[in-house]
Amino acid sequence: MTEDRAALLAAIAEEIRVCTKCRLHEKALNPVPGAGNPNAEIMFIGEGPGYNEDKQGLPFVGRSGDYLNYLLKLIDLKREDVFIANVVKHRPPDNRDPLPDEITACKPYLDRQTEVIDPLVIVTLGRYSMARYFPNGKITQIHGQPKFDTTRAYLPLFHPAAVLRNPGLQRDMEADVKRIPELVEKVRATRAKNPQKPAKADEKPEDPPQQLKLF
Ligand code: URA
Repeated sequence: MTEDRAALLAAIAEEIRVCTKCRLHEKALNPVPGAGNPNAEIMFIGEGPGYNEDKQGLPFVGRSGDYLNYLLKLIDLKREDVFIANVVKHRPPDNRDPLPDEITACKPYLDRQTEVIDPLVIVTLGRYSMARYFPNGKITQIHGQPKFDTTRAYLPLFHPAAVLRNPGLQRDMEADVKRIPELVEKVRATRAKNPQKPAKADEKPEDPPQQLKLF
């Protein structure tokens, strides 16, 4: 299953590499499809690549990335344990906000990545990824408050860059991050009770169908 997921993610990354669906590819140096563990239980979704990410083709490698690494360490995780993606996969010029048509053009890639990884918890970083799952949410009001559907939890967080700009948010940010393990446990338990979705940690290749012996 892990290999399948890696191959599927690589195929999506290749489509992103040659993508011309919006204008962002014109000025970007590298695509930033996302990176991490294809079998991750937790998926972080940021906004879009910045200067350093564009140079390296990897998400969250600048100062925001250093802070994200620090946050992960608070809950005993490393980047390799999670998957990190963005709403748009090419850098908006001069770090401007992504435009609605760019977000729409890029949406199928993020949808497919999410489907392949099938995370237990999606953590949104900042307004743009929050808007996907909490369309009317205001980050200052809903940060750290998860919502659930039948197979997943969604946790809206401040963007790491916003916290770096405003250290007054740091305490809330860190408290919010510390909720992640409890959400993973909760969704694991829900999936274990629901035969349609295997509990991720227990995932194994499907058993061959049982042949009914009639005679
Ligand atoms: N900010 C983002 O939203 N994404 C990155 O990958 C880096 C900074």
